[in-house]
Amino acid sequence: AKEKGKNNYRFFNKKLCKTIERKILIENGLKGAIQNKELHIVYHPKVTLQSREIYGMEALLRWEHPTLGNVSPAEFIPIAEETGQIGVIGEWVLRNACKQAEIWHENGFPPLIISVNVSVKQFQHGDFCQTVKGILQETKLNPHYLELEITESIMQDIGQSITVLKKLKELGVKTSIDDFGTGYSSLYMLKELPIDTIKIDKSFIDNIIDKKDQYMIKTIIEFGMNLNLHVVAEGVETEEQLSLLKEFHCQFGQGYLFSQPLNEVEFENLFCSNN
Ligand code: C2E
Ligand code: CA
Ligand code: CA
Ligand code: CA
Repeated sequence: AKEKGKNNYRFFNKKLCKTIERKILIENGLKGAIQNKELHIVYHPKVTLQSREIYGMEALLRWEHPTLGNVSPAEFIPIAEETGQIGVIGEWVLRNACKQAEIWHENGFPPLIISVNVSVKQFQHGDFCQTVKGILQETKLNPHYLELEITESIMQDIGQSITVLKKLKELGVKTSIDDFGTGYSSLYMLKELPIDTIKIDKSFIDNIIDKKDQYMIKTIIEFGMNLNLHVVAEGVETEEQLSLLKEFHCQFGQGYLFSQPLNEVEFENLFCSNN
């Protein structure tokens, strides 16, 4: 029994080492990722549920590591947050997403709203609003066409968050609470926030057959509508989910049922064939 325990321990250690090794590889890799042009952005369409018309898109970061291959943002963003690299990376995404949106506007595409994910660390940094303002001036994008997606964890420091949200509103930038329903906030706190949109987390949509999840979804939609907020359902994959969401009067959605995230050219092609 003792022998076995020892082996288990060794195995665990090996696994732990692999995890740490990978983390170090990611951390070091991120340092040169921008300079080596390993990052790019894909665009995930957002549609109106009634007519499936595209009204905007979310910028999602992609990283092709030279040896690890594609690393998911779900893996490297938390590491970048931990190491502080998120500042530079987040600014890169914001700048390039705004640049691309402005190119589309200039080329005569209807003015779609570009959403960019912002990590809490980035949001709470003292310079954040200045950075956003600077990038808008630099890229000449009309602020009304930029939306920032922030998670509920900003509620941990609700006072400061409200100040930042107000400043963003003054700039003309829209804000959205991402992954709504999974974090710290209550509906009570939500009513205090000067935001424009809430995104119902995919986990609720995944379980939409479940009566309890239906109840949550309906409550969030109703609450959002009463506060004059847009409500977006994320991760819509099936016609069945779509028809329930429409029944619940959800206006907007996003998910593989409508489209996968697309590169610039794919997005242009989809848009031209759809609208
Ligand atoms: P998120 O903001 O909740 O983005 C939605 C994620 O779900 C994306 O994964 C998207 O590709 C995926 N998704 C959307 N619709 C469906 C669907 O119908 N089915 C399924 N199975 N998946 C769907 P992705 O691109 O891997 O991003 C993961 C997370 O990484 C994002 O979650 C976001 O939190 C973070 N992230 C991505 N890009 C950035 C960025 O530029 N900055 C920051 N701070 N975080 C980012
Ligand atoms: Ca998001
Ligand atoms: Ca989301
Ligand atoms: Ca999510």
